[in-house]
Amino acid sequence: MEKLIFEISRAGRSADAQHPQFAVDTAPVPAALRRKTKPKLPEVSELQAVRHFTRLSRLNFSIDTHFYPLGSCTMKYNPRACNTLAMLPEFLARHPLAPESHSQGFLACMYELQEILMDVTGMAGVSLTPMAGAQGEFAGVAMIRAYHQARNDLERTEILVPDAAHGTNPATAVQCGCTVREIPTNAEGDVDLEALKAAVGPKTAGIMLTNPSTLGVFERNIKKIAEIVHQAGGLLYYDGANLNAILGKVRPGDMGFDVIHMNLHKTFSTPHGGGGPGAGAVGVSQRLLPFMPIPVVAIDGQNCVRRGPAPAPASAPAGAAAEGAVSPSYRWLDERDLPQTIGRLSAFMGNAGVLLRAYVYARLLGREGMHRVGEYATLNANYLMAKLRDAGFDLAFPSRRASHEFIITLKRQKKEIELTATDVAKRLLDYGYHAPTVYFPLLVPECLLIEPTETEDKETLDNFVDALVKIWDEAKADIQKVKGAPYTMPVRRLDDVRAVRQLDVRYQAA
Ligand SMILES: *Cc1c(COP(=O)(O)O)cnc(C)c1O
Repeated sequence: MEKLIFEISRAGRSADAQHPQFAVDTAPVPAALRRKTKPKLPEVSELQAVRHFTRLSRLNFSIDTHFYPLGSCTMKYNPRACNTLAMLPEFLARHPLAPESHSQGFLACMYELQEILMDVTGMAGVSLTPMAGAQGEFAGVAMIRAYHQARNDLERTEILVPDAAHGTNPATAVQCGCTVREIPTNAEGDVDLEALKAAVGPKTAGIMLTNPSTLGVFERNIKKIAEIVHQAGGLLYYDGANLNAILGKVRPGDMGFDVIHMNLHKTFSTPHGGGGPGAGAVGVSQRLLPFMPIPVVAIDGQNCVRRGPAPAPASAPAGAAAEGAVSPSYRWLDERDLPQTIGRLSAFMGNAGVLLRAYVYARLLGREGMHRVGEYATLNANYLMAKLRDAGFDLAFPSRRASHEFIITLKRQKKEIELTATDVAKRLLDYGYHAPTVYFPLLVPECLLIEPTETEDKETLDNFVDALVKIWDEAKADIQKVKGAPYTMPVRRLDDVRAVRQLDVRYQAA
C-alpha cells in the first residue's frame, strides 16, 4: 500500500539545502493576520517529494500509458505540440487584465478560434467564455430563456430532454429555472417523434439534444425534429460532447440548432476526465447573437458581432496581414456592445490555456484534418463494433451504424452467468485497459459505452477485443475469478456505494 506523504514526514526535514535561503519580511502583514502556528505541511526532502508524486502518478491510468475507451468523453491522445505552443512564455506571462493594446496577439488567436468554431459548426457567433460543457449548457439555456423573455413570450419554461440525455442536460434546465419534460427514445435509438409532437406546445422553451446521441447513433430525424420544435415556437440546443464524430462532416447549424456548446476539452486537444480545466465554448444562430455571454472578441471598428456566413478561416494566414496592409486591431466586446447579454460566466475570458490549445490544434489540422478526425473516429468505432459483434457480444442497437462510439449490453451474460458490466470493467484493469463508460446511458441494461477515438491503431483495438473475449471466457469457466477482479491494482474492488455516501479522504494527524 502506498504511504501518504504525511506518513513519510519527519519533523525538521526539508528541501532547504539545495535552495538559497530568503529572509521573509513579514512586517507588512498585520500582526493579527499572521500565523501563530506553523502550517501542518509534510516535512520531506525534495527527492522524497519528487519520488512520492511520481510514484502516485504511475498508479493512474492515462492516455499516455493505456488505451482509454471511455465513451462520451473522447479520451483521445492530444498532440504535445498544441500544449507546447499554448505554453509559450509570451502567453503565460500575459496578465488577464492586461490592456487590449498589449494583448493583440492573444486576442487575434481567440478571434480566429471563434471564427474556426463558427465555420466548423455552422453557427453565426461564438463565445469562448464558459469553463466546462455543463457551463456551456447553462449559458445556452439562459440564452434560450432570455430570447423568449425579450419577446415577452413568458410562458415558455419547459425544456424537452430525451431520456438518453447526459445528466447535465436536465440539471442545466432546472438550474435555469425551467421544468424538464422527458421524451422517450424508440427501439432504434431515435427520438420518438410522436411523443415529441405530443409534448411540444406554447410552454416549450426548447429541446436539448446530443447528436450523435449518447446511444452512439446519429439522430436521423434531426431535420424533422427541428421543424416540429421551431413550429411550436421552441429553440434547439445542441450538446456538443459528441462533436468529434461529425467534425468536418456535418454541422449543427445546418441541422437547425440555435445554440450549441462544444467541449473543447473533449474534441479539441485538452485531455478530458482528470477534473482539470475545461472550455465549453458556445455557438449561437442569428437570433441568439444579442444574448451571447461576454466577453467576445471582435475586430475594432467592425459592427460589434459580425453577422452572416463565416469565411474560411483555416486557410487564412495566422493573424498576419499582407505586407503593407494594416493589421486589424482586436478588442473585447462587453455589455456596452451587447446590452442584452446573459452576462459573464467566468473570470476574465475563460480558460486561456485550454482555448489556446484548441486554437493550435485547429490550425494544425486545418480543414482537411478536421475531416480526418471525424472519419477515423467513426471508422475505428465501427471496426471495433463489428469485431465485438463477431466475437458474440450483443450490440444495443444492432441495426445501426456506430458514430464515434457504440454500446454493447451484457444483459444476456448477466442472466446466464452473472457477469456484469462492473465485473468486466474491473477485470479490464488487470489486462491493462481503462474501462469503457459503464451503466450510461441508463436506458441500456449492463451497458458498456465504448469510444476508441481516431488516435488508436488497429493493433490496440484488436488486443482490446481479445481482452474482452478472454474475460468472457474466464467468466464462463469461473465467475468468481472475474468477480474478484482487479488483482493487480493497488486496491481491490471497492465498496462503491460507501465510497460515494461516506467518502472521507481527509488525513488526520495522529
Ligand atoms: C461530458 C458531457 C457533458 C458535460 O461536459 P463537462 O465539460 O464535463 O461539463 C454534457 N453532455 C455530454 C453528452 C457529455 O458527454
